[in-house]
Amino acid sequence: MKLSLVIPCYNEEANIQPMYDLCCDVLSEAIPSFEMIFVNDGSTDGTWTALKALYEQDRRRVRLVDLSRNFGKEAAMYAGLQRATGDYVTIIDGDRQQHPSVVLQMVRFLEANPDYDCVAAYQDNRKEGAFTRLCKKGFYKLINAACETTFRADASDFRTFRQGMVQSILSMKEYHRFSKGLFSYVGYQVHYLPYTVQERVAGKTSWSFRKLCKYALEGIASFTTFPLKIATVVGSIMSLLSLLYMIVVVIQKLFFGIAISGYATIVVLILLIGGLQMIMLGIIGSYVARIYIQGKHRPVYIAREYLSGDPEEE
Ligand code: UDP
Ligand code: MG
Repeated sequence: MKLSLVIPCYNEEANIQPMYDLCCDVLSEAIPSFEMIFVNDGSTDGTWTALKALYEQDRRRVRLVDLSRNFGKEAAMYAGLQRATGDYVTIIDGDRQQHPSVVLQMVRFLEANPDYDCVAAYQDNRKEGAFTRLCKKGFYKLINAACETTFRADASDFRTFRQGMVQSILSMKEYHRFSKGLFSYVGYQVHYLPYTVQERVAGKTSWSFRKLCKYALEGIASFTTFPLKIATVVGSIMSLLSLLYMIVVVIQKLFFGIAISGYATIVVLILLIGGLQMIMLGIIGSYVARIYIQGKHRPVYIAREYLSGDPEEE
């Protein structure tokens, strides 16, 4: 049995060697054959130098992919998954926040349960502000209501797949890769495993609240089309209301002789309708933009270098 660890790294210079040591300590006895595929996602610090040093140290187990710039964690994971050859493939962060002992648990579970194809870890003790938690809850409610696949709150990218499921994930060639969605879209039997996130010891997180919001919108636009239907709903309601109002105005005019009400009402209505139309155009625009980008068929990432320990492959 062979295990591949896919490890996306962005500015993790100080974490590379400790991460390698930790994985070897925990895994090498239980799983004799495992490889570590580090993907350097355009780091601006010494991550690549640290990785190359590691590669010289252990060519048998370490493989490196160097992306030509920062393409984001989604692209980095994709680059790693494409090169993973193990029967089991694990995605794990390079910052030591996810402990390799959980990987062992995942692999053991898959070995003991042939009916399952994936083990996904979720955080059982999330340390977040109340506001962020509320937003996340709202996001999962919304996306689960709008989407045919179910998204489990708190489930992370920290997962172990069987190779077959990896192939299914890779078969989806879209440019905007929203992994949480792709993982649940392909289906298969997934087991959820609670785990405790370790504190970050070195480097810093690349997530801010703004980035989280962007990520959430990305997910909604990638996996649902309900925003496009808002126009139909709002339009129908407004048409109905204006029909009722028309009847009121006609009755007022015919039976009570009251003149049509004035300037202010008209201006407010024009502005309101104009605003709503702009919002709808913006929503349609964001979907058109996706079609445009996808239509160019650009690669999800560009690899500058690949060190696989096998001169022919490189
Ligand atoms: N990461 C990456 N590319 C990016 C941002 C992050 O490959 O553009 C990697 C990062 O090095 C880490 C993992 O993705 O290994 C998770 O990132 P981070 O620790 O910032 O996220 P958090 O743990 O705070 O959710
Ligand atoms: Mg982290």
